Amino acid sequence: MNMNHKLAKIMGMATAISFLLVHIFIINVFMQCHVTPMVYFNVFSISFYAFMIFVAYKEWFRLFAVGVYMEVILHMTLAVCFTGWDNGFQATMLGMNVLALYAEYVGRTLKLKHTPMLPFCIWGMLSYVFSYVFVYYNGYEYEMPAKASFWLTIIWAVITFAITLTVLEIFVWIVNSSEDKLEYQMSHDKLTGLPNRYFFSNYVKEIKKDNGLRNRWIAISDIDDFKNINDSFGHNCGDYVLSTISDLFSQQDDVLCCRWGGEEFIFVSPYRADNDWGYMYLDKLRKEVENYEFSYNGNRFHVTITMGMAKYEEGMTTDNWISTADKKLYEGKQTGKNKVVGE
Ligand code: GH3
Ligand code: MG
Ligand code: MG
Repeated sequence: MNMNHKLAKIMGMATAISFLLVHIFIINVFMQCHVTPMVYFNVFSISFYAFMIFVAYKEWFRLFAVGVYMEVILHMTLAVCFTGWDNGFQATMLGMNVLALYAEYVGRTLKLKHTPMLPFCIWGMLSYVFSYVFVYYNGYEYEMPAKASFWLTIIWAVITFAITLTVLEIFVWIVNSSEDKLEYQMSHDKLTGLPNRYFFSNYVKEIKKDNGLRNRWIAISDIDDFKNINDSFGHNCGDYVLSTISDLFSQQDDVLCCRWGGEEFIFVSPYRADNDWGYMYLDKLRKEVENYEFSYNGNRFHVTITMGMAKYEEGMTTDNWISTADKKLYEGKQTGKNKVVGE
């Protein structure tokens, strides 16, 4: 997720407003059930969340995360100690753990000064156990009406599940999209956007496993006298030539083109492509490059390419296959360039 300060600020403010509304509801329940200490505490909580809206607005995220977590711990502990275990207040602690760790993740992503939340989660767990043990040994002072206990338990369960599932879904989404992004960056070349060597090796491995490599050919293409382009018109112009040629190559259906490195590209034929078709196809591509007029900073010029093509022979390793294509390419370079050398 492209997390930024503005989004974190909106999420913080939304959280503070939701918690404020929950406390307005809870103070009413406590007033009707005459649980006076909790009414007082909720007056504090309501003022606290009104302040937290301001804190989120000011983007004081560290104060926000720690403050909210401490308020929830205190509220949960006091509510359980005063009214017992049967009203579901303790469930809030479970939802808070994922929320706290999510807040820490946001802090790290935005490179903010953040407080590690794990110690607070451990404190939350200890408070959870403490309030259970306290009630178990000492009982509690305020008995809530059965109907209030019933509804409170359901409300806390729904809120806790909603928070936990929402945050975990967000995490699943973040992890998946980061993995996709990394996978793409790892397998594609930044300058030209073409698949790279890593992609090529995996692709060949896959097709070898699925249908075998019989009837396939590869071709390595190398730009002729590319060094001259860099030397005459500058490195940026060289980059422009590489991108333009890559656009031309990537428009080809059927044939996969990867950037092999530098000014070299590698092509993989479609399944069951015969050699004659391959030769004609590559020669047509070579001519297209030759006829294309490049234009950079007012300089107009033409570029040619040489290609070496190799058919897959039974028993060949991928390295042998590539080096056969490379030898053909070398042959093309030695015999005048701007040509396709096949079988
Ligand atoms: P030949 O016809 O024999 O292939 O000659 P050449 O000049 O193309 O070959 P050489 O191997 O001597 O030069 C390749 C040049 O490609 C050298 C290097 O600076 C340039 N090059 C490699 N990668 C890039 C790149 O990403 N951008 C630019 N602008 N130049 C690159
Ligand atoms: Mg080269
Ligand atoms: Mg070259």
